[in-house]
Amino acid sequence: MPTEPLRILIAGGGIGGLCLAQGLRQAGADVAVFERAPTAAGFREGYRLHISPEGSHALHTCLPADLFAAVAATSGRPPRAMSFLTERLGELLSVEVLADDTEPDPVAAHRSVNRYTLRRILLQKLDDIVRFGKECIGYERHGDNAVTVRFADGSTAEGNLLIGAEGGHSAIRAQFLPHAERVETGMVSIGGRLPLTTETRRLLPRHLDRGPISVLAPRGLSMFIATHQAVIAEAYRHLAPPDAGDCVVWGFTGPSDRMPVAGRSGEELRRLVIDHLRGWDPRLRRLIEHSDSGSINAISIRTAVPVKAWPPSNVTVMGDAIHSMPPSLGVGANIALRDAEILTQKLSAVYCGELPLLQAVGAYENEMRQYGFAAVRASNRALKQSATTGAFSFAATKAALRILNALPPVKKRVFQ
Ligand SMILES: Cc1cc2nc3c(=O)[nH]c(=O)nc-3n(C[C@H](O)[C@H](O)[C@H](O)COP(=O)(O)OP(=O)(O)OC[C@H]3O[C@@H](n4cnc5c(N)ncnc54)[C@H](O)[C@@H]3O)c2cc1C
Repeated sequence: MPTEPLRILIAGGGIGGLCLAQGLRQAGADVAVFERAPTAAGFREGYRLHISPEGSHALHTCLPADLFAAVAATSGRPPRAMSFLTERLGELLSVEVLADDTEPDPVAAHRSVNRYTLRRILLQKLDDIVRFGKECIGYERHGDNAVTVRFADGSTAEGNLLIGAEGGHSAIRAQFLPHAERVETGMVSIGGRLPLTTETRRLLPRHLDRGPISVLAPRGLSMFIATHQAVIAEAYRHLAPPDAGDCVVWGFTGPSDRMPVAGRSGEELRRLVIDHLRGWDPRLRRLIEHSDSGSINAISIRTAVPVKAWPPSNVTVMGDAIHSMPPSLGVGANIALRDAEILTQKLSAVYCGELPLLQAVGAYENEMRQYGFAAVRASNRALKQSATTGAFSFAATKAALRILNALPPVKKRVFQ
């Protein structure tokens, strides 16, 4: 038990905040989560999420065994490779992530998960600590051991430590680190999905059998495509979304000055993507045509700007609230889960009376700034590469990928 009572307040019940709440609850901590959405049913964002071995390991650390088993049981077929193709579907590079004859490590596996299902699992056993309809708007610190968080409905809550986990638009970060900027990258992404049927299977490049593909095209355009195929046992069916079923998800990325997405309907966004597919393999165009217009939406891609170290206090931040990044590498949620794992470990030590609070927060922040901002830089580099508009540099990128592909030992070393 801690030498002093320790109440931990988490602003935001997203992937990172809920995973942390699970970890802290397992450690016996006194924790409360304040989520803006009015109810759990309000979460309908996104569809498929790639969980890396690091993200999977964090879930294993923080979740009770039965909930981790639910994540494993509801995960889709594990990806075996990641491929980069041209817009005519010629192979540029294919990287193996799991050999065909190997079973994934149950703890640290690459996973394809459904966002809705993951959130439902993360919410289990937390009924008494997650408060819905609580939009955090700011806080007041009272020395190093007390903090009051304020909500849009005029109410407040008291604790010893406040953790901002409310995603990219974090109000806690805005007050705590006002110099930590989040800026436009000049790129937008339009995403959608379609059911995986006998007919739509025929449209899929063969590389998709082994894992996601990234299509690199001239003039700064790119397209990510992945399948989510899950056989969910009866015992876990209640965790699947109402529109469950095997599906193909895609994301089309391009410069915002040539892709005006603001205020456009799903149908208008579909047309916008199709207009940019001239000269592409016709199967890709048909994939877009077969997508349900209700599933098509757009985001303007923004990124955090890394900031220098700050002195630790009893307010901190995690996940997209501090290191939001372009989705180009599909790692943002995994980094948020890693934050949750490290915070769980450091705060458990405080709870056991082994570490003073500010020392634990500082140790977390030192680690988090390293890997979190490294992931922001890497995601921005990947976005820039796929956004190459010059014909010469695009040809050079393609040539480099083809050379790497032709040298398996070098490829293995680079991607290890
Ligand atoms: C198209 C796309 C694809 C992606 N694919 C992947 C992928 O495959 N793998 C991967 O690792 N990452 C992926 N990401 C990134 C990933 O979605 C984010 O990094 C991740 O969701 C961040 O988790 P978080 O808990 O920090 O924030 P969030 O998941 O955004 O959760 C924040 C929570 O806080 C709540 N909230 C917001 N404001 C307030 C407030 N003021 N008060 C209280 N609550 C509030 C929100 O309702 C939400 O529940 C993708 C992102 C995009 C856009």
